[in-house]
Amino acid sequence: MAFPHRSLGTRSDKEKNPRVGQTRSGLRALTRKMLFSMWVCHLDRLPTRSRLVSWGMQVSPLCVICSREVETQYHLFLSCPFSRAIWDRVFVRLKLPPRLFQTWDDLILWMSTPNRTSLPILRKLVAQATVYAIWKQRNNMLHNSQVISSHEIFKQDEREIINSITARKQRKKFRTLMSLWIM
Ligand SMILES: [Zn+2]
Repeated sequence: MAFPHRSLGTRSDKEKNPRVGQTRSGLRALTRKMLFSMWVCHLDRLPTRSRLVSWGMQVSPLCVICSREVETQYHLFLSCPFSRAIWDRVFVRLKLPPRLFQTWDDLILWMSTPNRTSLPILRKLVAQATVYAIWKQRNNMLHNSQVISSHEIFKQDEREIINSITARKQRKKFRTLMSLWIM
């Protein structure tokens, strides 16, 4: 998976983007964070609890969010009831039937499979933003004990996806992506 190489924005990049109320350099930094989470996930290197236990750390192996199953990468991002509720909303938005990814590779395959209602570039953006949103909330619960509903996390996820599409507005497919996501 490609890893971002672009440098941080210059001072002139920091003008506000009126559409999203976020600086351009802020958008690039966020995109970089989303790509980083996805890249680390792809390499199966995120410090999930099952991984911490395998490293000999004395922590509960249970999922930080639901406390029902061992927190593996697959459980946390794809099969945890909290995450599935977010993915269900994503599928509704993409006009696709709900599905459960069977493996991480299943998600990667889905990201690159074209469909009339969601181009691969949109699926990639959506997957990156969704994985990042789930990881962020997992850490929020772990460190701040802050419980936020899957509905609210989806709304945040949705905003990040719109921001990511807006950051690509100079590209040809911008209008198509935006209409596929918001229509
Ligand atoms: Zn869980």
